[in-house]
Amino acid sequence: MLVVSAHAADYVWRAGGTIAKYIKNGAEVKVIVLSYGIRGESNDLWKAEGATAESVKSVRAGETNAAAKILGITGMEFWDMEDYPIVFTREHDERMVRAIRAVQPDIIITHDSFDVLNPDHNQTHDFVYRCSIMSNSAGVRLEGTKTTKQMRLFGFEPHQTELSRYVPGSFIDITESYEQKVDAMKCFKAQSHLIEYYTQRAFLRGNHARRISGNNTYKYAESFANFFPVVGGELY
Ligand SMILES: [Zn+2]
Repeated sequence: MLVVSAHAADYVWRAGGTIAKYIKNGAEVKVIVLSYGIRGESNDLWKAEGATAESVKSVRAGETNAAAKILGITGMEFWDMEDYPIVFTREHDERMVRAIRAVQPDIIITHDSFDVLNPDHNQTHDFVYRCSIMSNSAGVRLEGTKTTKQMRLFGFEPHQTELSRYVPGSFIDITESYEQKVDAMKCFKAQSHLIEYYTQRAFLRGNHARRISGNNTYKYAESFANFFPVVGGELY
């Protein structure tokens, strides 16, 4: 599994339970954090006396490393890009294609196609989607890399779900990793207001997961957008 997060905490709020669950069950998971979210997602840290870009970055790096440790992530990569706005060049495209081809993922999780509140998330969606398609193309020649097979792609649930025209395609039961997710979320001091929000969201999605599946053991869940339809030999 490859997870690409625009900012330092996005992967925790939106997929932390799923990531921890996959790791617990033996999956290899790599997380790429494109930026520390210094300009766009660190407001509380800037209120500290004498705050600088370096001091904010150092706090954010510490927080996201602590969260990753709680979730069991060992494969973290930081690109340290500037955010607000995040700007992708052809060099970034090549770097991401190389990263995807190195991992050869069965699953990629990143931002969904539209987030009404965060243009960086939209840009990251376009970037990862474009690079995933390029990774599959034999014509995109990059020395030392091997073309990928079509992987399954999933989008994070955006913060303002309805305003972002988000439609859940998959509900993942995270009951077994819910406590890890909560502990990981608590690492982000500058965004403490989001902890309660995403705790409630896991409860709400757990309710939906139970109702849709009839499985009453699902207490907490995360939802994701499916970039592609489900394919198989039977309806399920
Ligand atoms: Zn973000």
